[in-house]
Amino acid sequence: PLDSLADPSLLKTDALIGGEWVSGGSRFDVHDPATGQRLVDVANMGPIDCHNAIVAADKAWPAWRARSAKERAAVLMRWFQLIQRHADDLARILTAEQGKPLAEAKGEVVYGASFIEWFAEEAKRACGETIPSTDGNKRFLTMRQPIGVCAAITPWNFPIAMITRKVAPALAAGCPVVIKPAEATPLSALAVAELAQRAGLPAGVLNVLPADSAQSIEIGAVLCSSDVVRHLSFTGSTEVGRILMRQCANTVKKLALELGGNAPFIVFDDADLDSAVEGAMASKYRNAGQTCVCANRLYAQAGVYDAFVEKLAAKVATLSVGNGFAPGVTQGPLIDDDALVKVEEHVADALSKGARVVAGGQRAAEHGERFYQPTVLADVTADMLCAREETFGPVAPVFRFETEAEAIAAANATEFGLASYFYSRDVGRIFRVGEALEYGMVGINTGIISTCEVPFGGVKQSGLGREGGRQGIDEYLETKYLCLGDI
Ligand code: ADP
Repeated sequence: PLDSLADPSLLKTDALIGGEWVSGGSRFDVHDPATGQRLVDVANMGPIDCHNAIVAADKAWPAWRARSAKERAAVLMRWFQLIQRHADDLARILTAEQGKPLAEAKGEVVYGASFIEWFAEEAKRACGETIPSTDGNKRFLTMRQPIGVCAAITPWNFPIAMITRKVAPALAAGCPVVIKPAEATPLSALAVAELAQRAGLPAGVLNVLPADSAQSIEIGAVLCSSDVVRHLSFTGSTEVGRILMRQCANTVKKLALELGGNAPFIVFDDADLDSAVEGAMASKYRNAGQTCVCANRLYAQAGVYDAFVEKLAAKVATLSVGNGFAPGVTQGPLIDDDALVKVEEHVADALSKGARVVAGGQRAAEHGERFYQPTVLADVTADMLCAREETFGPVAPVFRFETEAEAIAAANATEFGLASYFYSRDVGRIFRVGEALEYGMVGINTGIISTCEVPFGGVKQSGLGREGGRQGIDEYLETKYLCLGDI
């Protein structure tokens, strides 16, 4: 799948440290999840390389922060334009290593690029303030300064967007970055880094350390314990987020964590059912259910339960499973064998406790080893695994509820608090439920909520901080207070 790139030099397999491509002492294989085939081998970086990258970033920092915001924005805009120009190649690389359908991959490239444009614009608005003084002899003011060397550890489900969402605001604010991309998807990260080089980003401002899973842990430990690294941004599982948070305690590092979700998707009796089905499809089956904002638990009120389940199952039957490069495919493979096992476990557990399969329900083995049929389960109850854990696969378990209060209580009965969704046409209910859901994000009458202009992030154990929006750059800026006396 990688033979037909228009610009084959985007296929980078070395690490980027201090503006140099480094091949490393050892290599690891990257696979196509659809076929299991080995695509290429990639430099396997370790703790010493990580140390070198931190030193390179630290060295690059003074000159990068000294540039005006307008100059930094110009580099970012060139990077944005290059990503757009090479969107087809980037999408091919992404589908090859991640599996999502090519059209979705292209969508991610555009979405990923949008953060660069957005933060190039925001770079110029990192304003401080003057505060009315309470002492005639003094003046109070604040200025906002880049926090310093930043680290980013990113997941495989959005191999480009999860990088640009962290790196663009950091660079815009004047911070250099060391990225450790997910072991399954380093090629997308390296390709966008190559474009950043072409855009004129100075050596050392952006460093990328691909690594296998064992080395990733070692690199993580170095990034967390470094007192040069002032900020760590992580997107991934809550379990790993907790480890990183503990490791960052010694250096009291500022943290941005975007962790697991367990999104409820509530359909009230007064909902527009067709619209709710459409939203559920978009929210649940995108990326084969492998996003942290995917609807994980669908709650339908008793009056519309049967109709909703029936309409959803009919729509699910129109999905097309297969290799992400095949035309018309909407459902690619799951990322690895563990992902498939988890989906099977959740379905088997639900069925053993009384749920029923309305659509799908097993592997789609005719397409390969990592494919699972898009599935709808009815009569799902709170005692089942899928009620508590994130399935991260194409399974929609539908729970039944009677009252609004019951739906809110069920939706909030989780340690997670990232995305939530509900469908209602009643304006009072929209405010009541919108306020009552303990989530960082609420989609009302829509299943698609993320875009670069808004603050994305979770509450409770779904994480800390917000990415995107006006708020996204705050992470990377420290507020300094200046008190001017003796006026
Ligand atoms: P997922 O469940 O999405 O695979 P993980 O949390 O396992 O998410 O992985 C997300 C990212 O965190 C990947 O880049 C992975 O290499 C990295 N990672 C996993 N474990 C650790 C660790 N102990 N220290 C640092 N990084 C880690």
